[in-house]
Amino acid sequence: MPLYRASWLVPIAGPPIRHGWVATRDGRVVALGGATPPAADEVREERVIDLGDVVLMPALVNAHTHLELSWLRGRVRPAGNFIVWVGKMMAVRRHAPEAHDESYHRDAMASALAEMRASGTGLAGDVSNSLVGLDLLEASGLSGVVFHEVIGFSANDPKGLAAAARQRIDGLRAGANWRIVLAPHAPYSVSPELFEALRDARGPRRQDVTTVHVAESPEEVELVATGGGRWKHVLQLIGAWNPAWRAPRCRPVEYLDRLLFWDARTLAVHGVQATREELDLLRSRGATLVTCPRSNAFVGVGDPPISSFYASGVSVAVGTDSLASVDDLNLFQELAAMHRLAPEIPPSRLLESATAVGARALGLGGEFGILTPGARAAIIAVSVPAGTPDVEQYLVSGITPERVRWVESGSLC
Ligand SMILES: [Zn+2]
Repeated sequence: MPLYRASWLVPIAGPPIRHGWVATRDGRVVALGGATPPAADEVREERVIDLGDVVLMPALVNAHTHLELSWLRGRVRPAGNFIVWVGKMMAVRRHAPEAHDESYHRDAMASALAEMRASGTGLAGDVSNSLVGLDLLEASGLSGVVFHEVIGFSANDPKGLAAAARQRIDGLRAGANWRIVLAPHAPYSVSPELFEALRDARGPRRQDVTTVHVAESPEEVELVATGGGRWKHVLQLIGAWNPAWRAPRCRPVEYLDRLLFWDARTLAVHGVQATREELDLLRSRGATLVTCPRSNAFVGVGDPPISSFYASGVSVAVGTDSLASVDDLNLFQELAAMHRLAPEIPPSRLLESATAVGARALGLGGEFGILTPGARAAIIAVSVPAGTPDVEQYLVSGITPERVRWVESGSLC
């Protein structure tokens, strides 16, 4: 049974501990503490490993990414407007020589997974349309949830579409460390009937989580409020417009609330345009807001109101989004972006968002994102300069992968 010692322990479950230690057995944490040595009945010290000047902490939780889009890295330039960015991305996905080269996509996904792991991410919420590369997920050493995304703004048979998607994921096995669930894409790409069908196709368990992109761009807000604007034009251009659709004439979060979509097992991604009332609504339903600030800047929807998110009391988790809209999948860089946007939010809260809150949102609270007896031993060590006065501040300063190493993976065999 190994016992790891380090100059700092950041368990998330409590404040940082100077000269901390954590003991594990069979892939789980059994005990942890500070300067006082562990009691003999608490742990049997068979192997003490002193890791020196590092912060021991739970692996990070990236609550929103799209690994299947990793091959788009560097191919879509940042845009000042979401519709322009979407247009560029769709053009590349249609016309690039590698657009339908599955082995090329798999290679990109495998290196993206390796990059996530190298930068300390141990659990992820990954959106997938194609469901390619489930074997790569399982081989990656990460754990997570695959959100099989369903799109249909003008679907003739929404119940049939939801049932077919359900059947598809029921017939697949992602492995011991990954689960597959269904998720609608966004208010502008999923009809209200399909939202309801997907809601009804969900299971009752805590792990039956789902996610949706919401309140990301001003154009989405306009479409939901008025039934018109640039999104309508795009949907008409690509032949996806539904003439029978009636604008709900409200805010996007409120719209999905009318469809009884929000609960404690839903992840609302982006919320850049969300008003305080919408944030209050998400909080009252127990939903988790997932923020991806670097992607938001990249696609031209503006900076997320990080301070308002925290002031509202809604649970905030963190995601990178895909390599089509961010330069890397290092969640520490996302934390640095959040810190820049809202320096008054204590780093401890940002760190909790990137660990325990994300794990809870993905239905794995108490298992990941926290170091406490019984939790999975998904533990990373981040090298820290000796004498660093505030390690939490240090951890939101933009940690690069060279500073991260894995102590234990916490994954099941
Ligand atoms: Zn996304």
